[in-house]
Amino acid sequence: MIEFRQVSKRYPPNIAALTDISLSVNKGELVFLAGPSGAGKSTLLKLIAAMERPTEGSVNVSGYDIGRIRPSGLPYLRRNLGLIFQQQRLLDDRSVLANVMLPLIVCGATRSDAERRARAALDKVGLLDKAPMAPMMLSGGEQQRVSIARAIVNRPQIILADEPTANLDREAANKVLDALKAFHSVGVTCLISTHDEQFLDTATRVIYLDHGRILESWRRATPQEIA
Ligand code: ADP
Ligand code: ADP
Repeated sequence: MIEFRQVSKRYPPNIAALTDISLSVNKGELVFLAGPSGAGKSTLLKLIAAMERPTEGSVNVSGYDIGRIRPSGLPYLRRNLGLIFQQQRLLDDRSVLANVMLPLIVCGATRSDAERRARAALDKVGLLDKAPMAPMMLSGGEQQRVSIARAIVNRPQIILADEPTANLDREAANKVLDALKAFHSVGVTCLISTHDEQFLDTATRVIYLDHGRILESWRRATPQEIA
């Protein structure tokens, strides 16, 4: 579903953000991208979303060659992706519900259909009761869960979350991770970056980056594989 072949990414003038990255992610996997700040985690996620292009090597996502994708192809790629990035803040001039409805409205859904599906998405992250509120009135962790609802409301195949638990206390962070894991459990492929190693205890697959290189990459056997 996602394949990197000998990928390097340099930002101008000559900043090596990623060097010689090869990896593949299968449908339905839950992958944690770990490593210190500046390791290249968000660059890796941006390459998957075609927010950046590889300098060398190839990135393939759901059959799209990211290095060659045309602007006209971007909406088709992005339809498969649920993005949870710090840059994409919730809009404060409208309700939580309206924020989650927005991706559906943009895709041409009717208001009643968008509202029904947005409510279902908010219900899945445990925030249906906050639907009429302004995002500003919610805690940081709740806002992050609204962002998750907005990212999954279009039923994407892949969720990319860049440091979704940054600046949250442990309890709020756990709720955010549980919300992401709930979508993983219904078959959505998830990539989650974190510099917080405490979350890796229960991870089934971890790719550890440092200075733009894969330092370590491991996968824990699933209970089915052990049996
Ligand atoms: P992480 O997400 O692990 O913190 P990043 O992918 O954000 O790492 O950054 C990797 C490296 O690339 C860092 O050295 C960072 O300063 C640099 N970098 C990231 N984005 C840009 C950019 N747009 N222009 C120049 N350098 C960048
Ligand atoms: P609906 O089919 O009306 O969208 P569901 O209760 O079946 O309602 O799903 C609720 C919400 O769960 C969806 O609107 C969507 O936000 C979210 N969702 C996203 N991806 C998936 C998925 N792969 N499987 C199930 N639910 C998903």
